[in-house]
Amino acid sequence: MSRNYDVVVIGAGPAGYIAAIRAAQNGLKVACIDEWKNKDGKNAFGGTCLNAGCIPSKALLESTELYHRAHGEFAKHGIETGKVSMDIATMQKRRAAIVRQLTNGVAGLFKANKVDGLVGHGKLLADKKVEFTPVDGDVEVIGAAQVILASGSAPVELPMAKFDGERVVDSWGALEFEDVPKRLGVVGAGAIGLELGSVWARLGAEVTIIEALDDFLYMADREVAKLAAKEFKQLGLDIRLGAKLTSAKAGKKGVTVEYEDKSGKQSLEVDKLVVAVGRKPFTEGLLAEDSGIQLDERGFIVVDESCRTRVKGVFAIGDCVRGPMLAHKGSEEGVMAADLIAGELAEVNYDVVPSVIYTAPEIAWVGKTEEQVKDSGRAYKTGSFPFSANGRAKALEQTSGFVKVISAEDDDELLGVHIVGPMAGELIAEAVLAMEFDASTEDLQRTIHAHPSLAEAMHEAALAADKRALNYPNKS
Ligand SMILES: Cc1cc2nc3c(=O)[nH]c(=O)nc-3n(C[C@H](O)[C@H](O)[C@H](O)COP(=O)(O)OP(=O)(O)OC[C@H]3O[C@@H](n4cnc5c(N)ncnc54)[C@H](O)[C@@H]3O)c2cc1C
Repeated sequence: MSRNYDVVVIGAGPAGYIAAIRAAQNGLKVACIDEWKNKDGKNAFGGTCLNAGCIPSKALLESTELYHRAHGEFAKHGIETGKVSMDIATMQKRRAAIVRQLTNGVAGLFKANKVDGLVGHGKLLADKKVEFTPVDGDVEVIGAAQVILASGSAPVELPMAKFDGERVVDSWGALEFEDVPKRLGVVGAGAIGLELGSVWARLGAEVTIIEALDDFLYMADREVAKLAAKEFKQLGLDIRLGAKLTSAKAGKKGVTVEYEDKSGKQSLEVDKLVVAVGRKPFTEGLLAEDSGIQLDERGFIVVDESCRTRVKGVFAIGDCVRGPMLAHKGSEEGVMAADLIAGELAEVNYDVVPSVIYTAPEIAWVGKTEEQVKDSGRAYKTGSFPFSANGRAKALEQTSGFVKVISAEDDDELLGVHIVGPMAGELIAEAVLAMEFDASTEDLQRTIHAHPSLAEAMHEAALAADKRALNYPNKS
């Protein structure tokens, strides 16, 4: 055996690279193996999140939102722009540069923390040995005292809409379009479908989103989903619910999409079709037959709440295990695994994982929805505050949406916070911290919030839960 490490991590996405860095900070000798290859043929650390997910999507959302606002909003400020146009090549160059800076940054962090970043394929063998096949060079077997599996996820492909990389694409393909498709179809109205639909709709594409479920944003609070649906319609997103895709045939001129809804068979012609119906755990080529690791019926690596697999000394974290497929959830699991390996106490509080959808308005929440609290049978109170009554939101010209706080009637425990509106993804951090520290609604009420700030809407929503809002009439 050529080399031995205290910890070998397979996968350098936000789960794996964070685990590797934390383990090295804990004084352990660490290697992190990753085989990600970008469309330019170059390898890069950072996984789906940095290369094809969170980061490039947010880069495009920012560019297109600015463009959209320049059209619809600048005149209200008195800014005269003349004709505003968008150069897609420049927008995409910026997106690629941000991705490059951040993925190179991971390589830099590995160096700074003395993590050996190994480029190539990793496979877990029996007895915590790892077979490493470098992109160039000979296969070697690496010894590890502990192994962390962080192999991530891959887009779900539908049998009736196979990806062809040209007309029918996955989310990665939709991030790298070189032109604005005139008519864009999206299958799936989840976070990814809505974000990608928003990007191209803002640039002028006619976007139709088909969603099999009858409920829009089923996982969000109903009041939030209702307002978001109205806003997305205004943006021009044509969201068709209860619409089950039956076929997608790509031709030279476009894609013929067929689906069924309550009224029967429907069809739609689009230039490109993005299939964004979810992601599945990726473990192809990861496990030798005798590795001892167990997968569940959906392909997730089976772990306990501390991310320990059935094999002693082997952890699994991130999208390849149960729980929400979110970068920050994977990173926290990485920190937990690295700390447990170092003999420290560590856990992840799965009850307070925030969810954010980076549309305009943004949507963010933590904890339970009102419907979930109602179903639980616990007596509760709610308080809401609209951004239309918030000075900072007015100044920003972004007054749509609200903050909603749900608290227990008996002991004032914060049960859930839901935001739709400007910077919801930033504002939710306060609620996450409050819930992590078991703050009560009164604690939020008694916390000073800067004026004028969007965060005041959180303060007022907490006050409204006790009918004590100061800047908005309280519900009688
Ligand atoms: C378009 C899009 C937008 C998204 N936006 C957000 C967002 O805004 N916020 C958010 O929280 N999440 C977002 N996500 C989800 C987020 O990207 C994932 O939850 C996150 O990347 C999971 O991290 P991970 O480390 O578990 O896996 P990944 O990021 O998938 O990384 C896994 C890595 O393991 C490597 N690997 C796998 N098997 C092997 C092997 N055998 N040998 C070597 N290397 C291997 C892969 O090459 C990859 O680099 C988005 C996803 C998409 C697609």
